[in-house]
Amino acid sequence: MTQPINQTQNADIIVVGAGLVGLAAAVAMARQNRTVVLVDAKKPEIKKHQSWDERVYALTPGTVSWLQALGVWEEMDLTRVSDIHAMHLWGEASADPLVLGNHDANLPKLGVIVESQNLMYALWQQIDALGVIVVTDAKCKYIENTQQHIWLGLEDGTEISAKLIIAADGVNSWVRQQADIALKQRDFHQTAIVANFLAEKSHQHVARQWFAPHETLALLPLPEKYVSMVWSVSTESANELLTLSSDELAQKVGAQSRHVLGVLRPVGKILSFRLNQQTAVQLIAERVALVGDVAHQVHPMAGQGVNLGFRDVMQLESLVSATHALQDIGETTFLRKYERSRQADIATMNALTTGLDELFASDINLVKKWTHWGMRQLNQQATIKKLLIQQAVA
Ligand SMILES: Cc1cc2nc3c(=O)[nH]c(=O)nc-3n(C[C@H](O)[C@H](O)[C@H](O)COP(=O)(O)OP(=O)(O)OC[C@H]3O[C@@H](n4cnc5c(N)ncnc54)[C@H](O)[C@@H]3O)c2cc1C
Repeated sequence: MTQPINQTQNADIIVVGAGLVGLAAAVAMARQNRTVVLVDAKKPEIKKHQSWDERVYALTPGTVSWLQALGVWEEMDLTRVSDIHAMHLWGEASADPLVLGNHDANLPKLGVIVESQNLMYALWQQIDALGVIVVTDAKCKYIENTQQHIWLGLEDGTEISAKLIIAADGVNSWVRQQADIALKQRDFHQTAIVANFLAEKSHQHVARQWFAPHETLALLPLPEKYVSMVWSVSTESANELLTLSSDELAQKVGAQSRHVLGVLRPVGKILSFRLNQQTAVQLIAERVALVGDVAHQVHPMAGQGVNLGFRDVMQLESLVSATHALQDIGETTFLRKYERSRQADIATMNALTTGLDELFASDINLVKKWTHWGMRQLNQQATIKKLLIQQAVA
């Protein structure tokens, strides 16, 4: 059961932000027998059974194995989880898609699609079971460092001391601002439109993606014949698309996806998200570690944002598990190890998403032809396909 908070509370770790990454961090650290306080500005709205959630995530097999080890996976409603057996990727000029299948890499599946609410519910079950102290509706007021501790003060007068604050409070992180950590930013001038559809034809557990200049359309498999759409387009085009009725949007998506799934029927709401790439120049400050979108926001075309955030937590978990009970997990040498070990993964993901966006946007005819020719050639190259898949399923 979650514990009540005292007016002055001591803990080993404070996690600020109860999004997917913060929740996973609280679970992982509590499982390391650390006292954890989890603080969020909002009250979570967890609904177990509802219609298809518009927010869905592609999770890699690596993420799924880790969630299994954390005891989170078994709390999920697995009837609402869909496997990905293959990815089909089209360039603007390519008639045939590049096909990356699980058999190309001898894997049972390339990943899964899960609904946000389903995963949130499972994480909250573990938060509860592990006795994490939870403060919601919290207004963070100040952070103060002393030699041995870091203090988080809330507007209501509550003061929490810990060895380490894990900042998981999202793209506009308050903790990152308090720590005065700068950002490298890139505005894609794109907006992602998100909606679900019921398709006429079976998706056959294929995640499909169409790349065009500064535009990506993804149709991801949900159970039965449902699909989740993420359509990233220029913000100008998005504003136009968002004026359409859901039936009109479904027709546009059908045409854009070359009708491979037949007629699409809209299900539920249409959401939109402005897309930026944002990377913190440091992943650590005094007794503070950044994880998830606080540290890096990436374009959703590679379906990697939350996976990357989970890998931050996996790394922190592995470093914490290698310490002895009296070791200070907030001291600089420890935190530097965390920062060093995460830099390459984050840089690779930024390069991949920016590189793909630029490749398919190129005006140079040669690049367009290469993209088309490259797709056909790649389809014949078993080793390269295996490497591409290994990159996508880490
Ligand atoms: C359209 C779209 C599709 C995507 N698809 C995928 C995908 O398929 N696969 C994938 O891996 N990733 C995907 N992503 C990326 C993914 O959504 C994010 O990387 C992920 O949600 C980040 O989680 P987080 O926990 O770091 O942050 P958030 O989910 O933003 O959580 C932050 C939390 O902090 C809290 N908070 C904020 N401010 C404060 C404060 N001052 N005090 C206390 N609490 C605070 C908030 O209430 C919230 O609970 C997609 C993103 C988009 C936009």
